[in-house]
Amino acid sequence: MRGSASNNIGSLPHDRIREALRETADLILPYRCAVCGRLSDTEERFRNYDDLYLKIFGKESELHICGKCLSAFNTIEENRRWSLCLSNPIENDECPGLALFMPFNYRGIVERTIPKIKFGKQIELARLLGCLLGSGLLLEGIRADLVVPVPLSPERLAERGFNQAAQIAYPVAVLNGIPYAGDVLIKTKDTKRQSEINDNVLRSNNVTDAYSVSDSWDLTGMTVAVVDDVSTTGATLHEAAKALYRAGASKVLCVAFAGNRQNKNAEMF
Ligand SMILES: [Zn+2]
Repeated sequence: MRGSASNNIGSLPHDRIREALRETADLILPYRCAVCGRLSDTEERFRNYDDLYLKIFGKESELHICGKCLSAFNTIEENRRWSLCLSNPIENDECPGLALFMPFNYRGIVERTIPKIKFGKQIELARLLGCLLGSGLLLEGIRADLVVPVPLSPERLAERGFNQAAQIAYPVAVLNGIPYAGDVLIKTKDTKRQSEINDNVLRSNNVTDAYSVSDSWDLTGMTVAVVDDVSTTGATLHEAAKALYRAGASKVLCVAFAGNRQNKNAEMF
């Protein structure tokens, strides 16, 4: 009898065993997708990203994203990635024809992810977006002398613990072989959250002259890429660009992970 019981175990179909092992792995390693919260097994992990993360940040990534969410991030539209920053369509604009590189529309997976960074404090999600954005820019072959993030006010930075724009900008710089500097732009005016203001004119007024360039930086003749997470009206990036031009930059390129893609298309920078 013993012999036959042992034979029964030995004859379990391979896929049944694999399934049992996978279930056990889920119990031992319950990887939750950082975006949708679904339990994901080890086979769905973003392996290439782990290597990239290690190279950029010098440590292992603890981010887990399921295959479904990951594939939703892989749908960068080939066209319409460049748009004009139309925040201040005023005469004698200090930043005329400011170009904005923005690969994703602010909807779907992106709309679900950004609040997890800003309010859920998921720093690794910001870094993932930075890697995706940086890879997108690499395809465009952009040239810049410096990558800078849009800064947060010291109060907001203390509250959140990190600047999501900086976490996105850093991998953008590394992947494109451009120096990164987090201390170039300073927020000099305490503004309301842009997301809490619906009117475009009020949004623009809210951030007018909100940024300046640190005295320790001379940007004369430099091409500077300024990075933010989301650009809705473009008002924030426009004001940041204005400060960079005032500090001597010869060209400013705006970069955002996502935003309102209804804006008019622009030529590639
Ligand atoms: Zn997911």
